[in-house]
Amino acid sequence: MKKIALHWQILIGMVAGVLFALLMTQFYWGKSLITDWIKPFGTIFINSLKLIAVPLILASLIKGVSDLKDITKLSRMGGRTFVLYIITTVVAVSLGLVLVNIIKPGESISEKTRTELVANYGGTTSKFKEEAVKQNETGPLQALIDIVPSNIINASGDNKNMLQVIFFAILFGVGLILIKEEQSKPVKDFFDGFNEVILKLIDIIMLAAPIGVFALLAALVVESPSLDLFKALGWYAFTVVLGLSTMILIYNLIVFIFTKKKPNFFMKGISPAQLLAFSTSSSAATLPVTMERVTEHLGVDEEVSSFVLPIGATINMDGTSLYQSVAAVFIAQAFGMDLTLGTQLGIIATATLASIGSAAVPGAGMVMLVIVLAQAGIPEAGLALIFAVDRPLDMCRTTVNVTSDAAVCMLVAKSIDKLHDVEVKDEN
Ligand code: ASP
Repeated sequence: MKKIALHWQILIGMVAGVLFALLMTQFYWGKSLITDWIKPFGTIFINSLKLIAVPLILASLIKGVSDLKDITKLSRMGGRTFVLYIITTVVAVSLGLVLVNIIKPGESISEKTRTELVANYGGTTSKFKEEAVKQNETGPLQALIDIVPSNIINASGDNKNMLQVIFFAILFGVGLILIKEEQSKPVKDFFDGFNEVILKLIDIIMLAAPIGVFALLAALVVESPSLDLFKALGWYAFTVVLGLSTMILIYNLIVFIFTKKKPNFFMKGISPAQLLAFSTSSSAATLPVTMERVTEHLGVDEEVSSFVLPIGATINMDGTSLYQSVAAVFIAQAFGMDLTLGTQLGIIATATLASIGSAAVPGAGMVMLVIVLAQAGIPEAGLALIFAVDRPLDMCRTTVNVTSDAAVCMLVAKSIDKLHDVEVKDEN
């Protein structure tokens, strides 16, 4: 019998998880059954993905950089990567602003709903504000300081320090290029082998993906707030989702224009990573799978993907920046504020920077939204308005974040002749 393709398996897991949870909510014991006995499998699945994120970055980036054999290639690739990441982010924020100004979702929120939402979620959002204040209190060059770890063991001990691990791995790779070949060879061979082991582990972990996403989505359904609140925020959520869907079309278009690869090829190749991003709301947890898909199914040379994707997972968040721009203006509209063109241009700048600073974990975009709101002079209490629908939107924006990394990776690979032809494979 033909094996079902991985993206279908994951999709079936997701749908089954939602249906199962809906069924369970009919029983008074259903919710605790899912929280106590099903959710842990989702957590185990996410943990096992995160478990290999740091070793994966170390092994693949060291291998990738040292394979480049000369530093000018590295700087050429680095330059293109950053420029493309910034361009796609600015496009995303601007698209968000255009849509939210046309649809004006904030104006449909009644005074009564607004008060209700603030009353419901006002308390919860103070936690976000505190975190954002901490991030904002530091000096202008703090972000730069944060990239350079003072201790690599400590840095690799926390998945939040991914940029520090990336920095170390690039430095190490550069060191490897600069020493004599007979000395570098054993080290390179070690990392080559190490890298292969990690890629194999990803395959093994992904065997459990359908069960993992089943558990994650079932838990999400029983823990989500009431449907009424979702309804009140329908237009806002619609605007964000419309923007995010348009971004997916844009990626398909640019990939087609610059690499001649058809949308079907791109989407088929990347879809397991997208579905995983959707289920986990974390680009960092999805990174191992994104790497595998882009390399083995989209034909990007590992030299490129090992450099472009880990950096993208940490700094390139088009979905997050689009969401932040829509959310900021939505809140302003709901509070009856009129934002000038200058303020909206300011939102483009801060949302771009905030998305670079957002961690690749669930809910990070909302923390950084506080900074966007503060810069634009929009009341932070407005966070409470959008809290109810944040998780589903987080799922969608993470999917876009991951797709954008993959698209940019293909463009960079094409531009330096490192995009290979692969057959459209049906299986993982
Ligand atoms: N969850 C997103 C990510 O991991 C970040 C965000 O909250 O927008 O890409």
